[in-house]
Amino acid sequence: MIQVTSPYLPPIEEFNYYTTKIWDNKWLTNNGPLVNDFELKFKDEFNLNHFLFVNNGTIALQLAIKALGLEGEVITTPFSFIATTSSIVWDNCKPIFVDINPNTFNIDPNKIEASITKKTSAILATHVFGNPCDIEAISEIASKHHLKVIYDAAHCFGVQYKGRSVLEFGDISTISFHATKLFHTTEGGGVFPKSAELTQKLASMRNFGFKTAESFDGVGINGKNSEFHAAMGLCNLKYVQEIRSKRKEQFLYYVEKLRNLNVSFQGIHEDTDYNYAYFPILFKSEQALLKAKSELELNWIYPRRYFYPSLSTLGYVDKQHTPVSDDISQRILCLPLYHQLTVEEQDYICRILLRAQNN
Ligand SMILES: *Cc1c(COP(=O)(O)O)cnc(C)c1O
Repeated sequence: MIQVTSPYLPPIEEFNYYTTKIWDNKWLTNNGPLVNDFELKFKDEFNLNHFLFVNNGTIALQLAIKALGLEGEVITTPFSFIATTSSIVWDNCKPIFVDINPNTFNIDPNKIEASITKKTSAILATHVFGNPCDIEAISEIASKHHLKVIYDAAHCFGVQYKGRSVLEFGDISTISFHATKLFHTTEGGGVFPKSAELTQKLASMRNFGFKTAESFDGVGINGKNSEFHAAMGLCNLKYVQEIRSKRKEQFLYYVEKLRNLNVSFQGIHEDTDYNYAYFPILFKSEQALLKAKSELELNWIYPRRYFYPSLSTLGYVDKQHTPVSDDISQRILCLPLYHQLTVEEQDYICRILLRAQNN
């Protein structure tokens, strides 16, 4: 069986080295030494000023929305994972969907201004599959209208834009370290605030709002992550270069093998050092996608329809017109891509896809 992804697991001895430390000092959670070490190494690896490790990518988004005090309407993308929209609604804001660009799959900045009202407080955009949004255009619109910007950078581990980590942009960027992502800590996530002040606020919010052991700064939640999760992160960080170059090889191999398949690929923003986290293919019709998907499944291969359905069609949001996102989400399929995937398996997947097209 071939799934769309499979988690990278470091050598078990390396993980055991950390569990022995945990057993020795009996510090399991509450911002322990491994969490601190992981935060420092992560910032060092990507030259980042501010990073807080939290328990998942969804809490990261919810913390970001709370910390920036968003209210009213939040402009967002309909083409993302459910957590992007649900976090907005969870924090009592109203998602206003702006359609996407059919080539990059990211929010189309040319359509944002028409959706801004007096109630708009922010733009929450996703760098879809790790492809950076049109950051300059979004930032210009945001400063003109005094809006906050949050980037859901859940897919962006290791992505560089114009020579800097893409995680540096926006008032806050968030990431997910879930087991299905390129880099993981089993469960986990992170917030990357722009300022030291915001970082301090978020640090308190992630820890119930504690200021000192007996006083509080404001309302908080439990967004902490454990020493075990940090240990997984520390182990996996050592292998990121290897994971990334392997992904790149696999990604380019698919592109080459599928050159005669009647599909198109995502257009990656220029000036981007990409991470090859996903391999989405865009079919000409949903019918062609369904045929390919069922042929693959007959052979125990399970691609995923990331992202389907378009979030503007959710039952708990007001119906909104986003024809490009609706169309793309019906035709897009992510093929299996993970460290251990072999060339033979890739060949097999490509053969099935080409055969499904030709008969
Ligand atoms: C995975 C993902 C999330 C949520 O992250 P979790 O760590 O699973 O909570 C949010 N947004 C996007 C775009 C994602 O892909």
